[in-house]
Amino acid sequence: MEDLKDLIKKARTDHILEREEILLLLSSPEIDEILFAAADEVRKRYVGDGIHLRGLIEFSNFCRNNCCYCGLRRDNKNITRYRMDEDTIFATAEYAVQAMGLKTIVLQSGEDLYFDCEKLCGIIQLIKSLDVALTLSIGEKSFSEYRAYKEAGADRFLLRIETTDKDLYLQHDPQMSFENRIECIHNIGRSGLEVGTGILVGLPNQTLESYADDILFFKTIKADMVGIGPFIPHPNTPLRGAIGGSLQISLKIMALTRLLLPDINIPATTAMETIEKNGQIRALKAGANVIMPNITLPLYRQHYELYPGKSDTGYLPDNNLQKLIGTIHSIGRFVAEGYGFHQKLL
Ligand code: SAM
Ligand code: SF4
Repeated sequence: MEDLKDLIKKARTDHILEREEILLLLSSPEIDEILFAAADEVRKRYVGDGIHLRGLIEFSNFCRNNCCYCGLRRDNKNITRYRMDEDTIFATAEYAVQAMGLKTIVLQSGEDLYFDCEKLCGIIQLIKSLDVALTLSIGEKSFSEYRAYKEAGADRFLLRIETTDKDLYLQHDPQMSFENRIECIHNIGRSGLEVGTGILVGLPNQTLESYADDILFFKTIKADMVGIGPFIPHPNTPLRGAIGGSLQISLKIMALTRLLLPDINIPATTAMETIEKNGQIRALKAGANVIMPNITLPLYRQHYELYPGKSDTGYLPDNNLQKLIGTIHSIGRFVAEGYGFHQKLL
């Protein structure tokens, strides 16, 4: 136990751990509470008590890909597909900025080729006229597309690596290229966008060793944001019978990520709340400093079912936001005022 405490102490001050050390901490449940408290202290020291709220708009659930874990995969015929039009996307963003006071909008979708570069750049320009930070989460694109989004005004891009275990990645995304995923993440950074990445936790055959590699990957690529979410099996996917990820191990990976990348943005993810009530609060007390309230209209949101129970989690653009703010205050935190860019302190 003393050795484990020394490791955490070292991570708290130096923000460096070897792969074997990460692995040892991941496989020692007796250290969990000390690890979470250390991540909470580092979070406070580097990014403060403010929580950044990013309003998530799920604007299309069409997807050309077939990721085995995801309810939006193209082979799922048991889903009502939708696309929001430009006016609706803008009206949702406008409400979030002007009525709810949100400072970042996140546009997320499946990989939907209907929204080509020109259409997306038009939408980006419209939303940026609201004086708001804009994040995209729309999948794998070419370097010139990432560059065009940046030039149109986008600020950040989220593309999870999902897992750094190449064999596992290919097992779950059979028609995708692991190398291209990595290349895309590098291209996002090269284009001048902030780089958000992250992983799923609890995929079949995923190991503690691979989580240690994932955490080191976040550090190697100098991620600006890392989202960690437990995998939740969806009944209309090939992984319907899988067990899924646990909140505890997701929180541990998140806390270790905070210790090693102390000044980045880390969301308390919706999937954490979906598998366990108060999962997001536990995450906020173990290193997280961001929440992404879902502001998609219920009419669409019900069909953006990556995993069961998701659409019931999140916050409608009404008094639920007040409820969220109340919860944030109840743990001694507050809603941050700025746009929430990554302030590089290391
Ligand atoms: N299509 C884009 C992409 O894949 O990057 C953006 C949208 S995708 C739905 C966003 C994230 O949802 C993925 O990166 C994946 O980690 C997560 N996700 C998909 N299926 C999930 C599941 N069954 N449980 C938990 N998270 C899931
Ligand atoms: Fe499509 Fe993204 Fe789901 Fe994969 S995770 S099927 S790319 S929406």
